[in-house]
Amino acid sequence: NDKRWTEGLDIVHRLEHNGHRAYLVGGCVRDKLLGRPLHDIDIATSAKPEEVLGLFSRTLPTGLKHGTVTVMEEGSSFEVTTFRQEGDYTDARRPDEVSFVLDVKEDLARRDFTFNAMAFGSDGKIVDPFGGQDALRAGVVQCVGQPSERFGEDALRMLRAIRFAAEFGFDILPDVWEGIISNRGKLAQVAMERVSAEWDKMMAGGGPEQACHYLFKSGLLVNVKESLPESFRGAAERYRLNGSDWHWEEWGALDSDESSSGNLLYLPLLPDADLRWAALLIGMGVNGSDTLKLFRSLRISGKRAERIAAIADFHESLSAYDESTMRHGWIKNTIAHSRSIAEDLLSIREACGETVFAEREWLTEMSVSSVAELDVKGDELSRYLGVAPGPWISVLLQRLLEEAASGRIPNDKGSLLSEAKSAMRNMTEER
Ligand code: ATP
Ligand code: MG
Repeated sequence: NDKRWTEGLDIVHRLEHNGHRAYLVGGCVRDKLLGRPLHDIDIATSAKPEEVLGLFSRTLPTGLKHGTVTVMEEGSSFEVTTFRQEGDYTDARRPDEVSFVLDVKEDLARRDFTFNAMAFGSDGKIVDPFGGQDALRAGVVQCVGQPSERFGEDALRMLRAIRFAAEFGFDILPDVWEGIISNRGKLAQVAMERVSAEWDKMMAGGGPEQACHYLFKSGLLVNVKESLPESFRGAAERYRLNGSDWHWEEWGALDSDESSSGNLLYLPLLPDADLRWAALLIGMGVNGSDTLKLFRSLRISGKRAERIAAIADFHESLSAYDESTMRHGWIKNTIAHSRSIAEDLLSIREACGETVFAEREWLTEMSVSSVAELDVKGDELSRYLGVAPGPWISVLLQRLLEEAASGRIPNDKGSLLSEAKSAMRNMTEER
């Protein structure tokens, strides 16, 4: 971390020795002041892109039109961008044109929030024309300039405001919040990929509960480009109007007096973004198939979407069982989905304060949960029963799996084969 910061400063020195001005800027300066881990290290300079390309041996022309060159040093890469200003925004998305400028302060003025609009010089001094350090000390998200204007230029900034507030535990200043409310319709102009990248970062980050609270309270999410499933939209709107009325209130022992964020407070207790997504959507009453639809709109990949939807599906299927049949429900669903999906759902319920001793025991007692684990294979069944292979094999294997999983017969070849024989006899008699 410190090493990359120092390497970044080496690049700054190199530029200065060649007659240019240069600074570390943006997120890395903010994170350094906050004592947080640094992600990318960005450098702003008066040097033009061609000059940067000429000064360093290993470079990539990442975004020459926008003034950005990637410089590689000792395995890390640094984005070096010429001081620039942005032209008019006509589509709430990206500037119509950029023009290079001479002064770092003009470059800082185009940035979104005051704590993102600071530059760190080789003299160790911070250029901070908008009071970014004060905002960090006060713990507030403050725009450079008029929030309403800045969100109108680039609607994604509304999501960034929420992400930073949630991640750092900062307050959103009232004028910033008003700017979000009055510009929320413009989120429809932002590509779904960019919306979901921000939202997903929030789910993975340090304050998912705060992020969701702001996202729902602002009404931003129902203003995205594609229409999201009605079950999701409805729950999001109810939260905006009344606070939480979500299902998982029934599960947990958490006092929900604190704030209207109610049981969103469970989210940070879950270790990964996918479990948090699943907990959120289950809480909102979004089922497995609507979860898949939602993620398709959000362009979230197949594997992740399938896992999250399977958890929601598992949860939903359990509503068909009562106390006396619940064990059967768990066994059936574990077979249908997988043991790891069952464990995911248990993690969520535990995080929500529910006692899941019985369910854990049912899972531990299950000696098999998939056909592959059975001590008999399809061709063995066919040979043993003297029947040519056909679709009946998978039907029978499924039946054997249920018997073995529920503990009615042991998972050994002898028991499985004799069970197969009598099941086969029944199946033929039924016909
Ligand atoms: P992180 O990397 O933790 O997501 P960051 O602030 O570094 O946060 P980046 O997307 O890496 O975010 O952008 C680097 C810098 O570019 C920001 O600190 C900010 O100064 C500026 N910036 C990024 N996106 C915007 C935007 N949409 N509008 C204005 N300035 C922006
Ligand atoms: Mg960054």
